[in-house]
Amino acid sequence: MADKPMPVIDGHNDVLLSVYRAEEGKARSFFTRSEEGHLDLPRALEGGFAGGFFAVFIAPPPDEAKTYAGSGPANSLELPPPLDLGYAQREAISLTAGLLRLEAESLGQVKIVRTADEMDACLRDNILGAILHFEGAEPIDPGLDALHVFYAAGLRSLGFVWSRPNAFATGVPFAFPHSPDTGPRLTDAGRELVSVCNSLGIMIDNSHLNEKGFWDVATLSDAPLVATHSCAHALSPTPRNLTDKQLDAIRDSNGLVGVNFGVGFLREDGDWTAETSLTRIVDHVRYIADRIGVEHVALGSDFDGARVPGDLKDAAGLPKLVGALGEAGFDDAALRQITHENWQRILRATWK
Ligand code: ZN
Repeated sequence: MADKPMPVIDGHNDVLLSVYRAEEGKARSFFTRSEEGHLDLPRALEGGFAGGFFAVFIAPPPDEAKTYAGSGPANSLELPPPLDLGYAQREAISLTAGLLRLEAESLGQVKIVRTADEMDACLRDNILGAILHFEGAEPIDPGLDALHVFYAAGLRSLGFVWSRPNAFATGVPFAFPHSPDTGPRLTDAGRELVSVCNSLGIMIDNSHLNEKGFWDVATLSDAPLVATHSCAHALSPTPRNLTDKQLDAIRDSNGLVGVNFGVGFLREDGDWTAETSLTRIVDHVRYIADRIGVEHVALGSDFDGARVPGDLKDAAGLPKLVGALGEAGFDDAALRQITHENWQRILRATWK
């Protein structure tokens, strides 16, 4: 029997969209092995995918051009328009219900984790630990009533923005090459949201946030700074990636970066071609570890949300990535940190 793969806690996946908002003809179950997308339970078990952040992403309404969706976004400084609160709330309730249903149907194989102890227990007992994450605060009203309701339903991680502006913050556009310093800082409601997330123990995710917003969170938040699925701007100059100065701030807060596997965020030329080697992921992990320390870098796949290197393919390919990290000189202790221990530390430091 093969060795058990190294368990991976992962910073970001979009499997809820892939299962509950599939395009026609691409519908699939989380519990059946598929060739579609990147993640399902059989492939998770095969690759050692032990848990991670399951994103609730509000898909563009039908009347919005699909320019921004998928893995080959428009190369533009223009941002998608804001969403209607009622539409976003209906979508968020539906996808949150999807994760609750997925847990119930898993017959004990998947658990929505709400505490660091629960995540640690899942890792120990080989149960997939799922964290309910919102990628964009569009479903949250400025009075934050919905935040408390979704917290009660399990919400433990919140990215203030995907890309479009909302009541709290503004995201980065999909222009390449470009700095993340685009657009305004957090709104007053956004500043309030930082403090309420801190007091509830909801992790704030800074991936997609513009740079002025990032520095506001860095100043206001009392939790470690986290970017769940971003890479190094020095190696791939997309506004979705983190500048050296941002990386240093993440280190100084004892925070964490989950390296994104999306090829356009890995490549120097920003191309979205699957003809990209998984060693590009290793390059970003190495760069971040060398600059700010191996305790501040982890994985944030973007499975089912972006095109990933062809030689990695999907969640079942994670042992290949762990192998490549080992070949690049990361020893067993470092591999444990990168694959799961760093995320465990962040959850313990952030959640109540
Ligand atoms: Zn994303």
